Amino acid sequence: MPARILSGIAIRDEIYSELKQEIAALAGAGIRPGLAAVLVGENPASQIYVRSKIAACELLGLESWMETPPASATTEELLALIAELNARDDVDGILVQLPLPAHVDTKRVLEAVDPAKDVDGFHPVNLGRLVSGRAGLVACTPAGSMEILRRSGIPIEGANAVVVGRSDIVGKPMALLLMHANATVTICHSKTRDLAGTVRQADIVVAAIGRAAMVEPAWVRPGATVIDVGINRITNESEAQRIFANYAGKLAQFREKGSVLVGDVHPGVAEVAGAITPVPGGVGPLTIAMLMSNTIKAARLRRGAHPIISGHAAAKP
Ligand code: NAP
Repeated sequence: MPARILSGIAIRDEIYSELKQEIAALAGAGIRPGLAAVLVGENPASQIYVRSKIAACELLGLESWMETPPASATTEELLALIAELNARDDVDGILVQLPLPAHVDTKRVLEAVDPAKDVDGFHPVNLGRLVSGRAGLVACTPAGSMEILRRSGIPIEGANAVVVGRSDIVGKPMALLLMHANATVTICHSKTRDLAGTVRQADIVVAAIGRAAMVEPAWVRPGATVIDVGINRITNESEAQRIFANYAGKLAQFREKGSVLVGDVHPGVAEVAGAITPVPGGVGPLTIAMLMSNTIKAARLRRGAHPIISGHAAAKP
């Protein structure tokens, strides 16, 4: 039986309608949360990501600013910009779009962001809070993946969860969130010996690898829930043929546009899994929704306002 599709778009819309109530309540208290995005250079993918984040701010009625230093900006210049944004009272959230140019010390720049304004949840203080299960700002993609699981009614407590990938921004925080939600968590990476066999033990699989269609149908236990974090653009005809041999619609899309998106999970997994997030339209929309949620939460915590919706992500301490 084909898997239930866990639509990130529907869940994002549900979260946006909750956030609008939060924003209206904050407006009543004279607070308009604001997000400053720092986009260094002219990387086309980064430009698209930042524009979609600014568009989400506009949709919800948040204040937003885009800082666009040139690709030649030095670490010192970026540190000075961050210091300026840290000092501004109207800026609640600071987002530094990655990757930064190779000559920039990315860790120094990220660590310069005031943890109270670190809406990406990348600062070591916020990561430390996550490790110890204390209130803080949590990385958006893993937080969004948890929203998908919770709002879709997928049981987490006691489940075997396997996270493939251990990056600081996805795999590690995802594993911590699942562990805090009482799953039994295994983290896999490029040195894991029996990856397929380990994934097959999972009730919940999270794929955050960065390799197109790597998780195959035979790796997945029938009925398992699969969260596909990967976003890979296929531009090669033979690769498109290999992955989408049985998916005429996707191949037609490839032929029309010259590229097609695929996750880290093979499309055939949808025939085995019990539930799966699509790519596109799965985790991606939640990442932006959680950025909005974190900006509102940062505004509320920094400016001393109280939450109005106790169950919502932005309302949680
Ligand atoms: P990353 O920093 O490159 O980390 C990839 C992880 O996968 C690493 O831990 C790596 O292991 C592991 N890995 C690589 N090859 C492997 C293999 N053959 N077998 C087992 N593990 C392997 O990537 P990331 O930033 O976490 O992103 C992962 C994916 O999520 C990418 O496709 C990215 O585009 C996507 N993403 C999506 C969103 C969204 O909004 N949907 C947001 C962020 C990222 P080692 O640690 O051993 O090297």
